[in-house]
Amino acid sequence: MAQLDIIGLAKRYGDFHAVRDVSLSIKDGEFLVLLGPSGCGKTTTLRMVAGFIEPTAGHVTIGGTDVTVLPPWKRNAGMVFQNYALFPHLTVNENVAFGLQMRKLPKADIAKRVEETLALVRLSGYGGRLPRQLSGGQQQRVALARALAIHPDVLLLDEPLSNLDAKLRQEVRVEIRELQRKMGLTTVMVTHDQEEALTMADRLVVMSEGLVRQVGSQRDLYERPADRFVAGFVGRSTFLEGTLEAPGRFRTDGGLAVACAGDGAGRAVLSVRPERVAVGPSSVGGPNTGLDNSLPGTVEFVSYLGALIDIHVRLSPSDRMVAQIANRDGAFVPEVGQPIHVGWPASASQVFKE
Ligand code: ATP
Repeated sequence: MAQLDIIGLAKRYGDFHAVRDVSLSIKDGEFLVLLGPSGCGKTTTLRMVAGFIEPTAGHVTIGGTDVTVLPPWKRNAGMVFQNYALFPHLTVNENVAFGLQMRKLPKADIAKRVEETLALVRLSGYGGRLPRQLSGGQQQRVALARALAIHPDVLLLDEPLSNLDAKLRQEVRVEIRELQRKMGLTTVMVTHDQEEALTMADRLVVMSEGLVRQVGSQRDLYERPADRFVAGFVGRSTFLEGTLEAPGRFRTDGGLAVACAGDGAGRAVLSVRPERVAVGPSSVGGPNTGLDNSLPGTVEFVSYLGALIDIHVRLSPSDRMVAQIANRDGAFVPEVGQPIHVGWPASASQVFKE
């Protein structure tokens, strides 16, 4: 168990900056998730921590010891790869023993450790099989066992669930989280799957273009996104382009006056979460006259998602908005082409300066 510190880490390939400048402190026993779109530098960051990629700049310390120049097997970090990277010609036992042999443990200790670890991931009795004689979920657990067998200070998971089907993925999420908690393992997981990140993490890091955009809890990122990128990446938002005319007063490029929470003045984008927007029939003047904003619009598209319904509304030739409502008895569900009103409180919007 140990704290992991990533200090000013960067990786350049020629002129291309895969990772620009990443600094993170992961507390002892914490489960941190790196989230971001494809190519943002998540995997490169994780591989630098594991020792598979040499950084161009920066340091990695585990439990206060600088491991930046150590090879992977000399840092006590267990890694699970996206494609599991099991050795196909080695048995399950031999795969799990691999890291222990690299560390030159006595044979008897290795056998005992392999047995214990396979029991931990519920694969006792599978030790003699080859990877191809296992299901995808079982192979994933062998990869996890191989990482855990070395009793790592730090567990590194690179999209460990992406090859599993949806149902299995949900089960394995819980299993990994329980094991991690029980063992008190400092863990960093990479994913581009928002739901996976939100359900597993103690804290999340949103990355884009080789940089950390924001670090925080699920709630921080959703309710107080640092910028437009985070607001659009964690959850969904409607973005209205325009100008902040005065604190609290925004005008869209389509000419709509909107009350908002926001200081200053100048070009900006207003972000509103779809579930904060209420809809109501125009005949009664809108969803709720008590809301700060109540604007007329026309329904362009309605999409049924089961428990929820998305209503896409045209507010002006250049302004559109999505309202998401619960599919309850008596809910007002307008039809395409119907004139309606949308409403939301000023506090439900966020303004990002451009
Ligand atoms: P994904 O979710 O698709 O795996 P990622 O965020 O993990 O994406 P990385 O694998 O870290 O992204 O790659 C970051 C960037 O660095 C990408 O644009 C990638 O093309 C580039 N890159 C990675 N490895 C190399 C390399 N060996 N040489 C040149 N460019 C590389």
